[in-house]
Amino acid sequence: MQRGCRTPARPSMAAAPGRLRGLLVAGPARPWGQPAPLGTRLLGRNCHQPAGPRSSPEPRSGGLPEGVEYIPTRKAKNPMKPVGVAWYSLYSRTRLGYYFYQWQVKKARERYPHGHSVPQPCRFPGVKILPVPVLSNNYSYLVIDTGSSRAAVIDPSDPLAVQAAIEEEGVILEAIFCTHKHWDHSGGNASLRQRHSSCKVYGSSLDAIPELTNPLADREKVSVGCLTFEALTTPGHTVGHMAYVLDGGPFGGPSCLFSGDLLFLAGCGRLFEGSPETMLASLDVAVGLGEDTLLWPGHEYALECLTFASLLELDNPALEQKLQWAVQQRQEKRSTCPSTLGEEQTYNPFLRTHRPELQAALGLQRGGGEHPDAFRARVLKEVRRRKDLYKAT
Ligand SMILES: [Zn+2]
Repeated sequence: MQRGCRTPARPSMAAAPGRLRGLLVAGPARPWGQPAPLGTRLLGRNCHQPAGPRSSPEPRSGGLPEGVEYIPTRKAKNPMKPVGVAWYSLYSRTRLGYYFYQWQVKKARERYPHGHSVPQPCRFPGVKILPVPVLSNNYSYLVIDTGSSRAAVIDPSDPLAVQAAIEEEGVILEAIFCTHKHWDHSGGNASLRQRHSSCKVYGSSLDAIPELTNPLADREKVSVGCLTFEALTTPGHTVGHMAYVLDGGPFGGPSCLFSGDLLFLAGCGRLFEGSPETMLASLDVAVGLGEDTLLWPGHEYALECLTFASLLELDNPALEQKLQWAVQQRQEKRSTCPSTLGEEQTYNPFLRTHRPELQAALGLQRGGGEHPDAFRARVLKEVRRRKDLYKAT
């Protein structure tokens, strides 16, 4: 705790949801995503220049946390199709991935000059959370300690958009929290660090995160002004995936989970480098944070994920209601963030692997002697398989 920070005063959890609704402030469309002519110099660096050497060595199995299984994409055990495996290997392990990311940034700035969604800033006493819509469906988040004007950003994909938000808010960028190595989450690290030389880059040493300065261990905490973030190792999407939890106690609000590609509204990330068992354990860690925790995911996938979920569970009023709400939100290009972990458990199939109605809908039954968690992992695997097919159609 730094001098001048608030005294922690945990709110009553029962009161949180009602209060939460009152704290969500619809913000005006901001010019975050406004494009600069391509080829112009960006934050002192030509944005077409590769961000430095980038290798993605396979983690040594001895360096992995207990219970985490790394599945190299070339192994037959990996559930991805051969074409997907080849593409993923190129994307994550070669310079081609970086060029693809640059192309994505260019296209998105052209297509969404004001961002893909209208963000809804969230304010609590002493803290402001600003979603920054980037690329075609990613979110970066600028989290500000309003007392000291110190800020952290989660997953700065497009450095121009994030820098515009930093300037508009007039804050000092102290930290970049990177959930994982994929360029659509880490591609802005180098440019922002050039612009903000004292800014630290946090993440897992198991992922090849550009400009990583401070590798974090599971449950390690980092202070930014009066804000405290806790890192959680959440492998499955990538082997070094981390999620970050902002402690809500000191500002009298709910905690906030910045989940990257672990968990989306009604969805979860693809299993690029982990088994269903590993992903299930990571999702269980998220659920363990408590129902009032706000979920701030790495992508605006709500409509697609809810539509898919509604094909699995045909009679789920919470799901139907959320889908209708999301349709309205997206018609007006409004962001669907945040939801809460409590409501996610009522409609997100990846968090409902224990529910008999979902198991029945998938035609799965627990085998004699099968451990409940092994069965849940099998359910998760099947939901993920169907979602991958749904996405492809
Ligand atoms: Zn990813």
